[in-house]
Amino acid sequence: MSQDNADLEARLAEQDTFEPPESFVEQANITDPGIYEEFEENWPGCWERAADLLSWDEEYDAVLDDSDAPFYEWFTNGEINASYNCLDRHVEDGAGDNVAIEWEGELGETRTYTYEELLDEVEDTAAMLRGLGVEEDDIVTLYMPMIPELPIAMLACARIGAPHSVVFAGFSADALATRMNSADSEYLITCDGYYRRGDALDHISKTNEGLEGVEHEVSDVVVVDRLGDDLDHELADNQHDYDDLVAEYEGSTVEPVARDSEDMLFLMYTSGTTGQPKGVKHTTGGYLAYSAWTSHAVLDIEADDTYWCSADIGWITGHSYIVYGPLALGTTSVMYEGTPDYPDKDRMWEIVEKNEVDIFYTAPTAIRAFMKWGEEYPAQHDLSSLRLLGTVGEPINPRAWKWYYKHIGNEECPIVDTWWQTETGGMMITTLPGVCEMKPGSAGPPLPGIDAQVVDANGEEVDAGQAGYVTVNNPWPGMLRTLYDNDERFINEYWNEYSDAEADEWVYFPEDGAKIDEDDYITILGRVDDVINVSGHRLGTMEIESAVVGVEGVAEAAVVGGDHEVKGEAVYVYAIPEDGYEGSAELEERAAEAILDSIGPIAKPEEIVFTHELPKTRSGKIMRRLLEDIASGNELGNTSTLRNPDVVDDIAEQVSTD
Ligand code: ATP
Ligand code: MG
Repeated sequence: MSQDNADLEARLAEQDTFEPPESFVEQANITDPGIYEEFEENWPGCWERAADLLSWDEEYDAVLDDSDAPFYEWFTNGEINASYNCLDRHVEDGAGDNVAIEWEGELGETRTYTYEELLDEVEDTAAMLRGLGVEEDDIVTLYMPMIPELPIAMLACARIGAPHSVVFAGFSADALATRMNSADSEYLITCDGYYRRGDALDHISKTNEGLEGVEHEVSDVVVVDRLGDDLDHELADNQHDYDDLVAEYEGSTVEPVARDSEDMLFLMYTSGTTGQPKGVKHTTGGYLAYSAWTSHAVLDIEADDTYWCSADIGWITGHSYIVYGPLALGTTSVMYEGTPDYPDKDRMWEIVEKNEVDIFYTAPTAIRAFMKWGEEYPAQHDLSSLRLLGTVGEPINPRAWKWYYKHIGNEECPIVDTWWQTETGGMMITTLPGVCEMKPGSAGPPLPGIDAQVVDANGEEVDAGQAGYVTVNNPWPGMLRTLYDNDERFINEYWNEYSDAEADEWVYFPEDGAKIDEDDYITILGRVDDVINVSGHRLGTMEIESAVVGVEGVAEAAVVGGDHEVKGEAVYVYAIPEDGYEGSAELEERAAEAILDSIGPIAKPEEIVFTHELPKTRSGKIMRRLLEDIASGNELGNTSTLRNPDVVDDIAEQVSTD
């Protein structure tokens, strides 16, 4: 490293606040710090500003109806269509030739859809769905990787008022079945397979296995042909080839259906820490207004930008910030099919350079991988088109933040560290990039109009510097409406902890721990219950444990997360063999297979350690903290409160902590 470079690194390492770069502020969508006060004084009327970003078929009567809280309703009696807002209106405004989706395949092929072309495709697909008998309010399941047919199908569903339920393509057959059962979904669009690092992956066999677990009749399955001849498979009687079927509807005109603001736009199942996954219900008016507003205010998106969010559309981030938010604003949204290191570790930067990407939004786990690979990879490319960077999914450590700031943003791009959840529909806590100073590691203040704070166990706001729990006092347009078909669980999960139902005072509890500082900047510490965050994918420990103890020969299991340089956290399994069994390689393999089957490859354990006992407190609870420390290679604290302290060294010896 040169002396200059070393000086720069040293300066960056010490700096803990950063002003938004002048060049960014000059052109930012929002630059007036008065917006915070303005939203507070004019709440909930302030949210008209979000609704005004959209075109309504019928004006709403009221911004908010809180008469049946916490079943809030937004933009009541308004009528709107999401597909119209993401497509037709841009074409009508003369922007039909602007690029809507710029798709980059992993193997190097590309597909470009202008707004006009995307609209045509969406209409054909919408007509096809209608032809199959899909009616308004029927839930259509979409089980596809990052191919253009996925957003096309989403918008086609939205056009005819059929809510979609996207299941992440990496999820297992079981996960597909559970979600189709829960949503009573009778229609599925899937694909034959897809490519990863040049290899063809079979997706249709997994689909078919999942379909066997669906308890009701599935009327139609449409299969996108992604692999051509690379995979031989036969279509069952209720299965159709997508290209053949959609060709019958080429050139169709399908009028967008006017949906009530509160009609469901989609269901999105979260990973589910406790048993059954939660079907988060999002509605048309409020969700679309909120995803468009945050895309405008936080991501600073404008119609002539090229914007790239590298998330998978199978997660909420892809719904809100690859599809609905950016397309509602008429921008060019880049969609990348593959992995960040194929064919080489500069793939992301090659895509940025080639497409002259203005705004880039990714996850801390990706940034840690880029860091590990080295700054020489971004240095091979001209990244000067970038003007804003973002992160989402987990806390970003200051070292990774600064690396991102310097080596990707060249110290000229603000970074927005955006805290939000599947349930919130859009960003909640983050800086406004043209207004706020940035503090690496801290997400920032709550957005204008969002009344979030950090409280103690009694609901009292904690002092600056203290840790507590995030809560949100006011509702917001992008919030989930309920958990599908389960109002009771909706209340229990999110509104029980801090609300006073009798006084009709409702406080949303996201179940995340946090600290707050003297400037109201919130640093998220992680979640309250036990979840492991592997490469940004949140996995419930209980789910993994139940898979392991389902294996014959395993008596008990404890699953914890251990620090992992790249993935953030990795899965560690500690298991006790049943009497008559040993912790053999064969048992280990069966446990790993059970995890693969019930959760998917993302939950692949870093280590499975067999032990004759698990460290337990005197009251019989497994000491998870201790197991986490062992997995992470940390100093082990006092073990004298244990019922069986001698087991600790035994286990620690078996875990390689390199
Ligand atoms: P489930 O609730 O079923 O376990 P999940 O919470 O894992 O699912 P998401 O809704 O995708 O699924 O993740 C939201 C969570 O991710 C937040 O509650 C928070 O813990 C974490 N998170 C997201 N963005 C940030 C961020 N910028 N900083 C810190 N944590 C974040
Ligand atoms: Mg959650």
